[in-house]
Formats: sequence, structure tokens, C-alpha cells
Amino acid sequence: MPKYIDVAFPAAVRRTFTYHTTPELEEEIEAGKRVWVPFRNYYAIGVIVNAHDKKPEFNTKSLRKILDSQSILSEELLKLTKWVSRFYYSSWGETIQAALPAGLNFVSKKNLKVEKVSEGEDFTKEEMEVLTELQQKKTSLKEAKKRWQGTSLNKVFHQLLKKKRIEIWEEPDLKVTVATEREWSWADDKHAASALEFIRSDEVNSSHKWVLALQRLTEIGLPKRQSVLGDEEILTPYTLKKLQDEKWIQYKEVEKNNSLGDTLHYNPDSIKTLNSDQQAAFQAVNKSLQKREFANYLLYGITGSGKTEVYIHALQEAIEKGKGGIVLVPEIALTPQTVSRFYRIFGDEIAVLHSRMTSRERLHAWKDLESGKKKIAIGPRSAVFAPVNNLGLIILDEEHDSSYKQMDPSPRYHARETAIMRANINNAVVVMGSATPSMQSLHMAAKGKCTMLELPERHANATLPNVEVLDLKEYKSAMRGELTVALYQAIEEALEKDEQIILLYNRRGFANYLQCEGCGHIPQSPDCSVSLTYHKQKNLLLCHYSGYSRRADTHCEMCGSAHLKVQGSGTQKVEAELEELFPEAVSIRFDRDSTSRKGEHERILSTFGEHKADILIGTQLVAKGLDFPNVTVVGVVNADTELAFPSFQSTERMYQLLSQVAGRSGRGKKPGTVYIQTRQPGNPAIQYAKKHDHKGFSREEMGFRKPLDYPPYSRLIRFVIKSSKDHQARRGAELLRMIAENVVPDMPILGPSPAAISWMNKKYIWEVLLKVDPEKGATYIEALVDKIMEIYEDQSKGQISGVRVNINVDAIQ
Ligand SMILES: [Zn+2]
Ligand SMILES: [Zn+2]
Repeated sequence: MPKYIDVAFPAAVRRTFTYHTTPELEEEIEAGKRVWVPFRNYYAIGVIVNAHDKKPEFNTKSLRKILDSQSILSEELLKLTKWVSRFYYSSWGETIQAALPAGLNFVSKKNLKVEKVSEGEDFTKEEMEVLTELQQKKTSLKEAKKRWQGTSLNKVFHQLLKKKRIEIWEEPDLKVTVATEREWSWADDKHAASALEFIRSDEVNSSHKWVLALQRLTEIGLPKRQSVLGDEEILTPYTLKKLQDEKWIQYKEVEKNNSLGDTLHYNPDSIKTLNSDQQAAFQAVNKSLQKREFANYLLYGITGSGKTEVYIHALQEAIEKGKGGIVLVPEIALTPQTVSRFYRIFGDEIAVLHSRMTSRERLHAWKDLESGKKKIAIGPRSAVFAPVNNLGLIILDEEHDSSYKQMDPSPRYHARETAIMRANINNAVVVMGSATPSMQSLHMAAKGKCTMLELPERHANATLPNVEVLDLKEYKSAMRGELTVALYQAIEEALEKDEQIILLYNRRGFANYLQCEGCGHIPQSPDCSVSLTYHKQKNLLLCHYSGYSRRADTHCEMCGSAHLKVQGSGTQKVEAELEELFPEAVSIRFDRDSTSRKGEHERILSTFGEHKADILIGTQLVAKGLDFPNVTVVGVVNADTELAFPSFQSTERMYQLLSQVAGRSGRGKKPGTVYIQTRQPGNPAIQYAKKHDHKGFSREEMGFRKPLDYPPYSRLIRFVIKSSKDHQARRGAELLRMIAENVVPDMPILGPSPAAISWMNKKYIWEVLLKVDPEKGATYIEALVDKIMEIYEDQSKGQISGVRVNINVDAIQ
């Protein structure tokens, strides 16, 4: 039996702590269980990551309690989280925390614990008063401090705490709220028959909406849940309320049902036969599934070519072999539409995981997967850690999507690389799908690290839409607000035909930029070729990669024009203008602000899908995975804001965005047109998107990145240095650069420089960027950053204060 355990805590400290076990607990020791151990001055919750007999050189403290009867993390997930923590330089505990659903993780509260007063103990009257109160009522440390602060017992309480007569214990803080919904039934003394009698009587105007709704209810039958009634167009919350007011129906709140089956349809026979391209792709994947060995595929299929059908066939094969699967989709694409396509074939084998679920729902889904009750997990980024048994297949849909990379907090992992590693551990197969594969994946394919499979044909009769590029320089006076006359007229025509419109504008919060009104040029950093940001106070143009800066130009460096305009976020007033331009149309907004509430995202999309709104306006979110057959006009209000984003990736992002937006239009029988408004009509992103030529674009983009050593020809490690004092942050960044130069003399280093958003949450932010050989793995990255940070800790001590350093490996943006 193991005598020692190594425990990881969900703190930023990148090490584990060793404790000794006790004879009575020895038997239950197992890696992956949570434990209570003394940590600093309290009892903390950690997870056992290793059990062994190797006596450390220091004195160990004793394990107090084991919290789980079964491991909550399999050996496989321990291995994976360990790899993530090394590869992305996070702490193992933080990574485990991120992998686990709330309720199973370490989110905890510090509570006080008081042992019963025994015979021999001698306490003063005041001490007894404190102890008795704490014994009677469960109290947190915070509550107790507040309780006795400023009272005569405050000192007594703190002394008891110091003597450890009162102990501090962390306890899992399981904030599970029960999600409820309304269940509608007939009101007292009412029923379907009485309702019908009422409807048929003479005094009723049967054209009233609520009367029609009442009739519909007699057909459907009650009681029914809101989630079911909500599917009926006529049964809006308003009509239901009206029927309630008229005393026909009533509701009670019932716990929401987790089963997907209530609203989705299970029909495994509806699986579609594959066309020849799909069949060829499926056969390749299937061969690897049969061999039960690791393989990685890039499924490159233009929008509408039917990638999902290939996923479904591959999944079915895996399930038949007794394997499990994970389907990763961008958070925003995890709509009921997406889920229903998989549900139709796999039914209750599916567990959905996403951030808008309650903790309880997520815990439920997690347990169903862990126990093997469900075999397929569908979810965003974090579902790469789903405890699917006997994993055989991981699908990464829209693999180029930036939401697969976690930015903050740590672990800043990328789901693509993590999925590949997980498949490696399990001898499983990865299928990465995209219509616009990332440069990373294309590079992998070129180097033979994954196999490209192509779906070149668009499905059925759908045709690629026409793309019109509208040069804003030529429309100077012919503008309706932010819209060129051409786009304005297209919208007007579509509205007349009762067709729908999607308008996209960019509202990413970042600094301003300068643009020439004559030729559309945006000044770029001479060394890094990223757009320069404009700093108003100092009248400077600044590169946030290299730190390069110059006084803001007075004349365009390309055409000499003196008409340079400061552009930036917040300059677009599209939404407000629409009402004036098209007073008869109903517009609906879709962006992060409007979709942060639970269920709101689905509501907006279904409102638009049901054509209760004519125009959907949104940020880049609208480009992702939405499918509306009645949309014939898609307008990009200002493409340049994306191009101006100070990142080596901005052109690729722009290209992906435009291609996807183009894919949104004309998905049904009606042909669609995409209008792109820009001052840079010749930009490669726009030109290739117009031709739907991803190969051409990627060739040009790779040619741009190679000489500059941008990914995929390097991996970027970004050190982010934050402080409430600008000069401290700058000194920290300078020191880091110096150290990095010494540690790796031949490695390209950029910075220090202020971040693109150089002041956030009352902190100044500076950056240093390292370009690392992309062939290097976890061991190298960890050793390199360890060394830099060790020297930094040492040399900054007493010199630099109030500075925090975050590390972001594979930093994109
Ligand atoms: Zn110019
Ligand atoms: Zn630069």
C-alpha cells in the first residue's frame, strides 16, 4: 500500500505537495480522488495525482480525509491534464479544475469546525460562548469574522483559531440550482371539452389569437411543459398569459427535464446515404477506426458539402465497435439545430455539455458519460475533457475557430492540440473539419502529420453565393449612414420580397487605427507586418508585437494623401440607423452582450429562423454555423476593422469570416448575394473569399508568414506582464526580455511593448513574445519557461513589485 501521496491544488503554483497517508486510509488511496489535507493554516481540498512509497527528504504532514469513494478522474484524464499543464505552462491543479464540471471540482468555501469539548478541557466563559455557538451552527470563516468583529469576543475567537481549537476546513461549495420550467394544465373546473364548447359558442370572436391558441391546446392536450408548447408558433408566452388571465389554464413550476428526447426526434433510420466524396472520406476514417490506432484527419469540405454526414457515419461505426466519441463544436454553434442532427441518429447515447447549462445539468451529463450510460459527448472546447469511456473518435468541427483556444484564465489550452494528444493516449481517431482550414492544420497536412480528405462539391442544389465587393472610397456621397447605396438597395429589395438579411459589423473592443481615405492603406509595423495601433494622447502609431513606434503619419505612406482618418471601435452606429433607414422592418441584434443570458442565444436565433424578424445584425458571431434558408442578402458593414486588428492572423481571420458569412447566404433554393464594404478591395482576404478559393489564399498567407517566422512556422509564447503601475510593468517586461535573450540566444524575441489593449481592469499590460521552434514539445516548452521564470523570480525580487506574469503558449491574436 502506498505510504505517500502527491496532491495538486487549484492554485497557480506549478508543483504538487507530498503528504503521508495513515494506516486506516491507506486502502482507499487512489490517484484521481479528492482529499482534505493541511495546507498553510487550514485544511484544503486537493486531488491525488500520484501515490507512491518514496519517502521525501522533508517532513510530511498527514492526510486527513479522502473525499471520494471513487476516483473522479481516470488515469487517462490525469495523464491528459498533466500534459496540458506542461505544454501550456499552467498548474496541474488548475488544469484539473478546468476539466471537471462544477460540483466535482475544487470550488470551495472555508468553514469552521469545532471538536466537542471533552471532560478534561478547561475553558473560560467567553471561550465556551464562542465554541458553543460554532458547534450549534455551521459557520464559514468569513461569517465568523464578521460575527465577532468589533465585539469583546473577537480576540477570544482569533486565539482559539490560532491554537487550532477551531479548525478551518474547505468544503466543496456545490452551487447547484434546480432549473425549472412551467407546466401548463387546465385551470380548475376547465377542460378540453369546456374549452371547445366555449370556442363554438356564438359570443366568441374566433379570429382572436388567444382563441386560436385555446383551440390548439384542446388538440395538443394538457398538461404540457413550456419547452414543448414553445415549439408551437401560436402559443407564445403572450397568448399563454392571456389564456391564464382568462382563467382557462394555470401553471406550476416543475424541475426541468434533462432528457433531450422531449423536444428532439429520434429516428436512426433517417441516416443519409453518403455521396461518393463523402463515402471516400468516411472509408479513410473507417479504416483507421478498424485498425484501432491513432490517426488524424483534416476533413476539408466547402460550406454545405455535408461534413456532418461524414461525422455521423464515423461516429456510428465507432459506437458499433463499442467505442465512445466526442464531438467538439464552437460554443456559439452549439445550437439546438446542431444537437438535433446528432440526436436523430444517436438518441439518448448523447450527453450535451455547454456553459449555459446549470451546474447540476453539467454534473448529470458528466456522470452519465463516466458511468458509460452515455457514449457521445457534444460540447465546446472544454468537452475535450469529457469522461467518455473507451474513446474511439474525436470530431473537431470548424477546427479553425478561435474559440477552441482558451485565453483567460489559465490553463490557456487549445482544444485541437489537446484532442490530438487525447486521441494519441487512446489510440483513437481525430477528424478535424473545416471549410477554411487553419494554417496550422494545413501545415500539419503538408508535413504528413495528418491526412487531408476533401469534399469539393456543394450539397444538393445549393449554389455558392455571389460576392460583391463595394469599395467605400467610391461611395463617398452615395451613402445611407454606414451603408452604401448598393447594399441599401439590396436590403430594400429583399424586404419587398419578404426575404431576410444578415448584417455583420465588427465591434471587437480594441484600440484605434489610422486609415487613408484615398487608397485605404492602414499603416503597418515595418518589422512585423501587423497593423499599427493609434494612440491618441501621444499621437503615436505603435506596434504591440515589437514595441516599434513613430509619430502618427500626416500623409499616407502609400499614396501621399493627407486625408488620414482615425477609425476604431464604436464608430458604427448601424443598429440605430437601421430603424431610420427601414422603419417597417423588424431588426434583431445578436452579439456577446445580447446572448450572455441563458437561453437568449437560442431565442434570438429561433425568432429569426421563424421569420419573426427581417434583419439580424451581429458581430462575427453570426457567421458561425447558422443556417437560414430565407436569407438572401448578407452585408459586411466594414471589413477593414478586422484587417486592422493588430495581429499576424488578422488576414486569415478576415478570410475565414468572409467565407463563412458567404456560406450563410443562399443555403436554400434562393440564390444569395454577399456584400462586402471595404476601403481595401484588393486585399487578398477579400479577393480570395470572393472567388471561394481557400487554397489560393492559404498559399499566399503561408508565403507571408514563413519569412517572418509566424505560426505555423513557429509557436508563439507570450509573456503578459501586468501591474497597476505602468513603469513597474515595463521594467518587468524589460527584465523578462533580457533573461529570455540569455536563456535562448538564437531565438527571435519581440518586445517589450504595451499590449494591444494596454490598460484593462486598472492594470497596465506589457508583452514579450517568443518565437519557438514548432517541432518542440511539452518537455522543451516547460523547461524553457521554467528556466526563464526561475531567473526572473530571482532577479526581480526586491527590484520590481506588484507585477504579475501570465504565460500564454500558442498565443493567437
Ligand atoms: Zn493612401
Ligand atoms: Zn512590429
